[in-house]
Amino acid sequence: MFCIECGKEDEELFEGLCSSCFIAGNKLITIPPELTVEICAHCSAVHVGDKWMKNELSEEEFIAETIVKESIPDKEAEDVVLEIDLLNQKGSVLEILINARGKILGIPVEREFPVKVKINRNDCPECSKYASGYYESVLQLRADKRVLTDEEIKVADGIIQKLLEKLFRTNRMAYISQRAELKEGVDYYFGSYKASRKISHALKDEMGGTLGESPRLMGRDKSAGKDLYRIWISLRLPSFQEGDFLAYDDNLGQVTDLNGRKIMLLDLKTLGKISLSWREYSHLDVVARKENIKTTTVTSKSPTQIQVLHPETYQPVDLDILPELASLNIGDPVEVIEIKGKLYIIPPKIV
Ligand SMILES: [Zn+2]
Ligand SMILES: [Zn+2]
Repeated sequence: MFCIECGKEDEELFEGLCSSCFIAGNKLITIPPELTVEICAHCSAVHVGDKWMKNELSEEEFIAETIVKESIPDKEAEDVVLEIDLLNQKGSVLEILINARGKILGIPVEREFPVKVKINRNDCPECSKYASGYYESVLQLRADKRVLTDEEIKVADGIIQKLLEKLFRTNRMAYISQRAELKEGVDYYFGSYKASRKISHALKDEMGGTLGESPRLMGRDKSAGKDLYRIWISLRLPSFQEGDFLAYDDNLGQVTDLNGRKIMLLDLKTLGKISLSWREYSHLDVVARKENIKTTTVTSKSPTQIQVLHPETYQPVDLDILPELASLNIGDPVEVIEIKGKLYIIPPKIV
């Protein structure tokens, strides 16, 4: 037997070739001379097979990974290692030199392959939705029986922006496609319903109020065979703010604090603390605003009574003294609120 390539005799043959002819003819790997990768022009998503996928790799790493995936080692090759060098870039075409090292029949072998990689930059589905102003959900921020204050809008904008930045890291659809300031409040259009839902709960946790949700049928996705809904979420901030005065059942109270879970009140008759849940909201009536608080002076004090001047008529008014008012002395300024013709002392804040 002899090598069909060089004619050498008395050697072990591999597929009719002596070992040196066999090694010389072995390419170590096969790789297409031209490759195309598709990368989103706006985010790091990549198109692989027939799917767009999220991608944590840098562009260089993704191209290297694609090359490794496309390189098929020869069945005789062992310990194959690729070194990938960028030689040149012309527009969207990278000229790359692949240096492959490995062993054939136990003998170290090195091969070089020039490869052209074309980068196609397109819009991934999420970015094309963003570009088209697509939204899944509208969050309507309102206030009950009043307009939102500038301060409330500022606070809400801040909470939304901060949370969106966080959500966007894992959800490309966590964006605002439109923000509309209307007479009755602010509408925020969100790419993602999930994100708008999280944000509406975060706003309620911080600012209180009542949340409502209503889906609206927008049409039908024929390819998926599904109805398409958009979700309107409304967050209605309460008719009152911290410092305002409420009537509930037969009681009167000043709002000292409110959050997503409860409304804290100072009872004006007993000066005790009361905590109400938002379920009680419909039973609460605003009877005075914090702007209605007036300052007057203590004119006399006895173990059971305290006398102040009415802030408008300057007539002396006698009121029952409560332990919380014990620190007040004659001549001290004191805050009072008049509700339904009756005067109440707001105890000095203990700092
Ligand atoms: Zn040979
Ligand atoms: Zn994208």
